[in-house]
Amino acid sequence: MRLILLGPPGAGKGTQAQRLVDKHGIVQLSTGDMLRAAVGAGTPVGLKARDIMARGDLVPDEVVVGIVSDRIDQPDARNGFILDGFPRTVPQAEALDRMLAAKGPALDGVIEIRMDEKALLDRIATRIAQMEARGEKVRPDDNPEALKTRLHAYRVQTAPLLDYYGKKGLLRSVDGMASIDAVAQAIDRALGVKMPAGGG
Ligand code: ADP
Repeated sequence: MRLILLGPPGAGKGTQAQRLVDKHGIVQLSTGDMLRAAVGAGTPVGLKARDIMARGDLVPDEVVVGIVSDRIDQPDARNGFILDGFPRTVPQAEALDRMLAAKGPALDGVIEIRMDEKALLDRIATRIAQMEARGEKVRPDDNPEALKTRLHAYRVQTAPLLDYYGKKGLLRSVDGMASIDAVAQAIDRALGVKMPAGGG
């Protein structure tokens, strides 16, 4: 299974991706995680990405496309994968189409997790407060200024992908304002996954 999770920052893509990983035995490919690892390791990609990410802007397409292309060649991605945070621009989606055309099966679906912006801001504020209370390090881009930039990037650069995948007949939208379990069930239904008896 090859899936894309689309949705604004704070929509719960990471949480739902993890569930799909457990359920379907596929890997989660989060470009945000990969880039943060590169920043942490101080690689050339990380040095290029660090300040851009801290501001909440998007890293250049060619950097991210290169990372994803290398990653989906790894043996553990052979069974399938969930892309979380990629593609984020139309050129990235076009690059992904070329990659998949060259590297086996096409996409099975694109799941959009819909959220309104007020709820996103509340959710991220709560996440920051909880992390601080636990003494964890807060992401450098989890602050009001960078968050505004991230939401703007989503609206302007990523939202056009809804139309891109809609036209291909791949897009399925679920309501991200519901509980984690309810969103998970909506995703299962969107994918046509059979519910266990009594569930769903
Ligand atoms: P979120 O969805 O919570 O905003 P991510 O962890 O997916 O966060 O991404 C964090 C940051 O990493 C983005 O704001 C951006 O700077 C960079 N990034 C991640 N994926 C991409 C991508 N596909 N293209 C460009 N930049 C990306």
